[in-house]
Amino acid sequence: MSRDMMGAFELYQPDTVENAVELLGRFGEDGWALAGGNDSLDWFKDRIKRPKYVVDISGIAALKGIRETADGGVEIGALTTLTEVERSEVITGRYKLLADAARRVASPQIRNSGTLGGNVCQDARCWYYRYGVDCYRAGGNRCYADTPEGQNREHCLWGADRCIAVSPSDTAPALVALDAKMVVLGPKGTREVPAEEFFIRPNVDIERMTVLEDGEVLTAIRIPAEWSGARFYFEKVADRNTWDFPLVNIAAAMVVSGAAGSEKVDKIRIVAGAVQCVPRRLTAVEAVVAGQPKTADTATLAGQSAVRGATPRNYNHFKIPLLQNLVTRAIRDA
Ligand SMILES: Cc1cc2nc3c(=O)[nH]c(=O)nc-3n(C[C@H](O)[C@H](O)[C@H](O)COP(=O)(O)OP(=O)(O)OC[C@H]3O[C@@H](n4cnc5c(N)ncnc54)[C@H](O)[C@@H]3O)c2cc1C
Ligand code: SF4
Repeated sequence: MSRDMMGAFELYQPDTVENAVELLGRFGEDGWALAGGNDSLDWFKDRIKRPKYVVDISGIAALKGIRETADGGVEIGALTTLTEVERSEVITGRYKLLADAARRVASPQIRNSGTLGGNVCQDARCWYYRYGVDCYRAGGNRCYADTPEGQNREHCLWGADRCIAVSPSDTAPALVALDAKMVVLGPKGTREVPAEEFFIRPNVDIERMTVLEDGEVLTAIRIPAEWSGARFYFEKVADRNTWDFPLVNIAAAMVVSGAAGSEKVDKIRIVAGAVQCVPRRLTAVEAVVAGQPKTADTATLAGQSAVRGATPRNYNHFKIPLLQNLVTRAIRDA
């Protein structure tokens, strides 16, 4: 397979989201929405994804920027760059969890052009799939990673269903923890999808990572006021500290009451990334921690609860103690 030049496509550059939706709806599976291009252009240059029509949405001003909403929350346009998210006073002041997650994505150069929408819509990072093999996710009938010799160090602990790839996004777990809503515009109109339901499992559709269907565009992400100014914890572990995807990340939001030394966790949402095909909300941890004193014992119990039922592959056993430790630290140090 020649991979020395990009395949040809027709390029469209609409300046309204309605035009973009009309074009993408018309092109169906032959079309491709292009935002910052960090993920898309790799696919095109490797000639693994070969859309006939590319709809470059990066010129649509209405999809950019961060606005406070009347109900006390914020709305972030899908084309807002990760650097803007990381530096925004509103986000760092009220939803630091998201700023911390955005700051840990890739490298400064990628964050300067990479968009929040692109970060949550990015495809699986399984190396076999990225290499262009005919695996389940690519429409074939086998998984190359889930074999005795398969390289599955980055793969999942839960939710395997033919495919064992994980959700690679750093911002996605933060958005699920903040109970964000994803605003989607498509040929049938607008719909708002909770972040927790935006990401889909292989048993729902093995060839997609999100609910987005052909012709649909993620226009914005709304974060409710409920978690504004809460206690937050984000930590990512990767092989390298920059320019690398998470092996595991953890995002927690909690409301704590009481004086220092006798604090109690009133409510909590905690989500792990890179352990399942979707960001994994750790409801068992939430049940163990909510209403309990914020002590080392609670944190230890939370860590133990986080990993129950984990099913490692041959090379990713290390993710179990890693996740356990991240959860323990999140409860202890937030
Ligand atoms: C070397 C490298 C290292 C990386 N490291 C990390 C990392 O550590 N953590 C991490 O989280 N990510 C990482 N990434 C992924 C990177 O953050 C994403 O590729 C980037 O955020 C995508 O944003 P983009 O705007 O460039 O999207 P694009 O490449 O333009 O789009 C990505 C995908 O999303 C779709 N899409 C984009 N916007 C929309 C929209 N508004 N509506 C519908 N569909 C849309 C596109 O069709 C495409 O399928 C890395 C990428 C690279 C290349
Ligand atoms: S883990 Fe998923 S993406 Fe990777 S080879 Fe298997 S089916 Fe393909």
